Formats: sequence, structure tokens, C-alpha cells
Amino acid sequence: MKNKFHHLRNNLPKDEALKKVHSENFKRITLSFYRYVKIKNPQEMRNELWKEWNEIGCLGRIYLAHEGINAQMSVPEHHWETFVTKLYARPEFTDVPFKIGINQNPDSFWKLAIKVRDQIVADGLTMDDYDITNVGNHLSAKEFNEAMEDPETVVVDMRNHYESEIGHFDGALYHEVNTFREQLPLVAEDIKDKKDKKILLYCTGGIRCEKASAYLKHKGFKDVNQLHGGVIAYKHQVEQEGLANKFKGANYVFDGRTKEGISNEIISNCHQCGAPCDTHQNCKNKTCNLLFLQCESCKEKMNGCCTSRCKKISLWPEEKQLRYYKKNGHKTKKNFSKSIERKKNLMKKTIWEKILKFFGK
Ligand SMILES: [Zn+2]
Ligand SMILES: [Zn+2]
Repeated sequence: MKNKFHHLRNNLPKDEALKKVHSENFKRITLSFYRYVKIKNPQEMRNELWKEWNEIGCLGRIYLAHEGINAQMSVPEHHWETFVTKLYARPEFTDVPFKIGINQNPDSFWKLAIKVRDQIVADGLTMDDYDITNVGNHLSAKEFNEAMEDPETVVVDMRNHYESEIGHFDGALYHEVNTFREQLPLVAEDIKDKKDKKILLYCTGGIRCEKASAYLKHKGFKDVNQLHGGVIAYKHQVEQEGLANKFKGANYVFDGRTKEGISNEIISNCHQCGAPCDTHQNCKNKTCNLLFLQCESCKEKMNGCCTSRCKKISLWPEEKQLRYYKKNGHKTKKNFSKSIERKKNLMKKTIWEKILKFFGK
């Protein structure tokens, strides 16, 4: 089975694939969509979709599971009609709503990767932890704004720490976690004495709240609500309907290089110099790979790295770096799980440097 379909993937190295995307003479539409729906044979559908989408030049990251689909992708503008018609012709995906990205960044996607998984969002829950047909109420931006007016309402940010850091709703609870999987039990514990209060959940595009709201309801929370379509839809509605914007800062979308300004203010700081900054950078030392906020001038000074040690490694000849990566690459994952502590250390150092500078040392 595996061999039969082994050709159904892109094999171009990343830099070449990116070059190809950059030299395209047509526009791409960046979008995301998801649906919880029963898919009988995800592997079969995966192969069909891959062929169908590869033919018309779609790129992206798509997860398929027995429980549904979660897609982040780009479609050549001139093939948009074909894409939508064919997708909607599948009974599982008829009329699935799209979220169209505002910033059309050519770096967002460079290959078409469709993966079959157990779940479309990694949450570590089993079917006994929630009932996906019993989710929270879906609120529009206007309804969400109104609900937030009540001081008794509890607003919870269901995104990762690096997402909340650059933008969030005023007064929202957020958690220092790297993954949704860690966050769910933490949220339930954090607000366990608020089971009778109105709970408002939000995330980037709405998908995480589907699971989170089902989970909280299963845990006994009575009035669970979620921002329909997430912050992405919120922005559109605020603009179209002229509503008050209660989201401060930028919305982190799709991947580390893409963000959408929601309000004009920057609420976060460069982790190295403390200047206002909402641009994420993955440390150029691949074994470190820390995702942190770095301003342009620090980026230049540090060669896109988080510490001078990482900078040193990033300046080695490529071959030496590759050898080092081969030997230490396994640490990358472990490093990621520690990224919150590592980021805090960076910030501490920043404060110390500022103090020393102040005293002219
Ligand atoms: Zn800086
Ligand atoms: Zn680093």
C-alpha cells in the first residue's frame, strides 16, 4: 500500500521549492478550513486529494483523520473555482467555510503535505473526555464583545504562549504552554470554581475551541461559549460591521513568519533589547530552534540567533553545522518543550543588560 502511493508527495528540497514559489507569475489565495466530520477512509481520501490538489498547484499542510479535516493551504488564484467546486462536490466537505488569510506571504507554504493522523488537532484526549457533538455556543464578534462587557465573564485564550504574547483580548486568561495538549487540563483546573459563570473561549481560527468547549462542558461547565471562526473571523467582522475592536496587538496565523495586525499597537517586546516588537524568529542554530521575539536590529546583530553561543554555531561553515546538527538534532524537540523557560532566561538577561547599561558598565 505504502509503496503504491510513494510518489504522491513533493520531493523538492525546501530552498528550491521556495525559489519556485517566489518565481511564480500568478497570485495565490491563502486559506484555512476545518470540519469535524466522519471520514471512512482517510488514507484513500488523502491520496485522492493530493492528486487533485497537486494537479492545480495547491500547497499547504493538511491533516486528515477519521474525525475530519484541518487544512492550511494556498491555492493559485486562477484555479480557485476548480478547487472550490471539486472540494464542495465531496459530501464530507460541502459548503465548508473558508478563512481567507489577509497577508498573502509566499513563504507560508512551499509544498503540499497531507498527513493522516489519529486526530486533526493534537490534544491527547480520548473519546471519553468529550462529546464532539456537544460543543459550546458559537458567538459572532458582536455577541462576543457584548458578552465580554459583563465583568463576571471569564475569557480564556486557547492558543499557545507565543501566540497570546503578541496579541490577545483585554483581560483574557492565558497559559504558559507550548501545546494545546498541555493547556486543556490546565484551563479546566484554573477556572474550576467558575463552573456556573459564562465562559468565553477563543483561538486563531475556531478549531481548537470546538474541542476545548466540548471538553469543558464534559467537565461540568454550564455556560460555555466560543468565538466563531476565531480571531481571524473577528477581525473581518469588526471591520465590516464597524464594531469596537477589543483585541489588542497582532494575530499569529499559520506559521511563524505570518502575523496579521488587528489593532495597530504592538503589545510585546523584543526578547533581546526590550524594544516594541511582534516579529517571531526561530533561532538560526537549528539544534536550538527557539521561537522568540526579535527586532530587526537584534536580528542583524545576533545573526537571527537567541544567544551568542547560538550565533557562534550559526556562523560555522555549513558542513560543520550539518555535522553538529546530525549529532545534536535529537535535542531539538527537547529544546522546544523547554522553550518557555529558555525564553524567560533570555528576558531576564535583557533586563540585566539594561540595568548594567544604565550604570554605564
Ligand atoms: Zn531587539
Ligand atoms: Zn538559540
